[in-house]
Amino acid sequence: MSDYKMETKCIQSGWHPQKGEPRVLPIYQSTTFKYDTSDQMGRLFDLEDEGYFYTRLQNPTNDAVAQKICELEGGVAAMLTSSGQAANYYALFNICEAGDHVVCSSTVYGGTFNLYGATMKKQGIDCTFVDPDAPAEEIAKAFQPNTKALFAETIANPALVVLDIEKFAKLAHDHGVPLIVDNTFATPINCRPFEWGADIVTHSTTKYMDGHAMAVGGCIVDSGNFDWEAHADKFPGLTQPDPTYHGIAYTKKFGKGAYITKATAQLMRDLGSIPSPMNAFLLNVGLETLHLRVPRHCENAQKVAEFLNNNEKVAWVNYAGLPDNKYHELAQKYMPTGTCGVISFGLKGGRAVSVGFMDKLKMIAIVTHVADARTCVLHPASHTHRQMTDEQLIEAGVAPDLIRLSVGIENADDIIDDLKQALATI
Ligand SMILES: *Cc1c(COP(=O)(O)O)cnc(C)c1O
Repeated sequence: MSDYKMETKCIQSGWHPQKGEPRVLPIYQSTTFKYDTSDQMGRLFDLEDEGYFYTRLQNPTNDAVAQKICELEGGVAAMLTSSGQAANYYALFNICEAGDHVVCSSTVYGGTFNLYGATMKKQGIDCTFVDPDAPAEEIAKAFQPNTKALFAETIANPALVVLDIEKFAKLAHDHGVPLIVDNTFATPINCRPFEWGADIVTHSTTKYMDGHAMAVGGCIVDSGNFDWEAHADKFPGLTQPDPTYHGIAYTKKFGKGAYITKATAQLMRDLGSIPSPMNAFLLNVGLETLHLRVPRHCENAQKVAEFLNNNEKVAWVNYAGLPDNKYHELAQKYMPTGTCGVISFGLKGGRAVSVGFMDKLKMIAIVTHVADARTCVLHPASHTHRQMTDEQLIEAGVAPDLIRLSVGIENADDIIDDLKQALATI
């Protein structure tokens, strides 16, 4: 683990070639790896030796990129997954089973809301959604004896709620469970949740980390800080012998590496969801410029938010970079260098006007994506959150007229000009 600064980690971490090896991270496009003796291979299956044997579990390209993200977040171990959804699923399922319960911020991304609220419910894992802005005493009421984790997003997509990470970390720890934080929007460039008490961080690398809208992917990083043994009865999957690995108890054998080792050895083995090495390679190319792109996204978004805020056709603007924003203070505390490039706003006249405005944009494209180099726009109530009732939309912090604008890294004047001409038509 290096103690380089963030910029250097973006470039240098993860891949450390030895004499004569490629300078650039190679794509190990191989499902399988060769050994000399049957015994060598057997020891890998027993988790006695470290090494590669089958890409569904681990691949050198993927591992190098996971290691880079691990160092950017300041964690002890990390794994890539084939999507952000898979990362958030594994992050919980690694410590929950039927009969268990989790507490989750109600403003999380729509996909996560469905995963935890509906799909995992079918597997017997219950979820209580809480208002992240509610006082701690209120949120504490959601915890049950079978609660295994607290989950939230540093900056909620698309509600742009900034999480009070310390409040959430204390709530989790008071109840003997880890805080899992989805850090997709802030990225480790703007916020490192482990520094504020989060235990596990997840990412949809599909967004700023890839940055070019080329590869869907996810990542889970463990801080190594949560003491599973101190709550051994709550987390038997980590602390008790695993009969599918000849009775290995992950915490005893792997210490701080227990959580990620279990997720790899058990969940990846049984459920798949490994990214292709090619996609991991593309993600790594994106990561090399993350430290350059994220500040530019924030700078442009600030200019665009100020422009919208001063336009008479705009009803409201939500961007934590604006001084009068509800989350400005929290953002200053947890992410003083910037929040993200995503802004939400509504137009006077409501939902229909907002939708009509979007159709008039020229450079700014309507796409189901956020957080890449190209400025794009989406209407969550008609697109990503289409399956939600109006009540659920409000709970998720998504007003029916909300337009989600993901500000790219073009020249800010060109972005503003496009918005201007579209606003002029309504
Ligand atoms: C997009 C997103 C996800 C889901 O990630 P995919 O890579 O699309 O599977 C999860 N959480 C947040 C905050 C996201 O923005």
